[in-house]
Amino acid sequence: MQAFEAVVNYFEHAADQLGIAQNVRKLLLTPKRQVEVEVAIERDNGEVATFVGYRVQHDNARGPMKGGLRYHPEVDLDEVRALAALMTWKTAIVNIPYGGAKGGISIDPHTLTLRERERLTRRFVDQIHDFIGPDRDIPAPDMGTTAETMAWFMNQFERYHGYSPACVTGKPVELHGLPGREEATGRGVGILTVKLLGRMGRLTGHPTVAIQGFGNVGSHTAKFLVEADCRIVAISDAHGGYYDPAGIDVLAAIRHAQKNDGSLETWEGAKPISNAELLELDVDVLIPAAVGHVITKENANNIRAKMVVEAANAPVMPEADEILEQRQTVVFPDVLANAGGVTASYFEWVQNRQHYRWGLNRVRQELDHVLSEAFEAMWETSQKRDVSLRQAAYVLAVERVARATILRGHQ
Ligand code: GLU
Repeated sequence: MQAFEAVVNYFEHAADQLGIAQNVRKLLLTPKRQVEVEVAIERDNGEVATFVGYRVQHDNARGPMKGGLRYHPEVDLDEVRALAALMTWKTAIVNIPYGGAKGGISIDPHTLTLRERERLTRRFVDQIHDFIGPDRDIPAPDMGTTAETMAWFMNQFERYHGYSPACVTGKPVELHGLPGREEATGRGVGILTVKLLGRMGRLTGHPTVAIQGFGNVGSHTAKFLVEADCRIVAISDAHGGYYDPAGIDVLAAIRHAQKNDGSLETWEGAKPISNAELLELDVDVLIPAAVGHVITKENANNIRAKMVVEAANAPVMPEADEILEQRQTVVFPDVLANAGGVTASYFEWVQNRQHYRWGLNRVRQELDHVLSEAFEAMWETSQKRDVSLRQAAYVLAVERVARATILRGHQ
């Protein structure tokens, strides 16, 4: 199943629950705009290299469109379109005044030098600056992009449009960024995992957790959950995994990764295991926090975790989702699980527009507040309608976007 098809599938279930008419479904599903642009740069050796960049603006009924910018070799129009729609539902669930968008360039950023990455970002802005901006569409970091990328993005945008710090979020703290934005996605995953454990009556006795992916999201999730008295028994990155049933020393792993260009490779703090083995460990919570599509119909029957929290976007394929539901494995859906990042982005945008700085404590408090409200709403909907958490999250989101769309009128 293609990525966009999967999102449509979840949407259709929610639309059935809500009794939404076919013509309104079409309106909600069709992206407002999707662009594909050439991004040609001069490499450091003087040669020209050409890449393809995308920006899909899915829906703006609830506000300016919001979503990350991804640099990854697997980026294509179908994936960006799916992720843009996911952002529409994500911003609706946490009830922040945005629509959804997503962008990306099909490139492995590690194959470029720092200066080449900067040129790539600036050339991409040259191609799309006309239809983005603080009131239209606000990019942010995603896989393969960082606060530094956002600083170049802002600087290039400002060459055309003047002072405009709110044109992107996830900027460096020293450059109109928000303290706590970088940790926010992982922290949010942690906050929500603890809420789920509480509701499932499993918060006592150091619940066990396995985390796939140890980038920004996975490492901050691990850190938060250790502080919340969970036992992280396995972690991994693209090179492989580490397992210790007595509990991984997460801070030591983070220190190793920091010294090692973000990678856990060569770490000797725990027994090596493969990424496939990690997914099948007998733990309370499994948190896929890396790429999408890692739990498929092929391995879903081997998943022994009681709960799966989707920190990555779309790690569980729809066919696998059905198998997990039959096996009574609770899946916490990506649309809320990883919404801490965009929620903190919203705080950054608000701060930029008010020219007023928030401290870390306020950011953390407000993040907790927004995510807790969304969690309670999703939980209540799932109980009331007797549907999975994913269906409940989609029902909430689709209802909010449909309502805003209808209220706006179409004359
Ligand atoms: N890239 C993140 C996401 O997919 C954050 C988006 C944002 O902050 O706008 O949710």
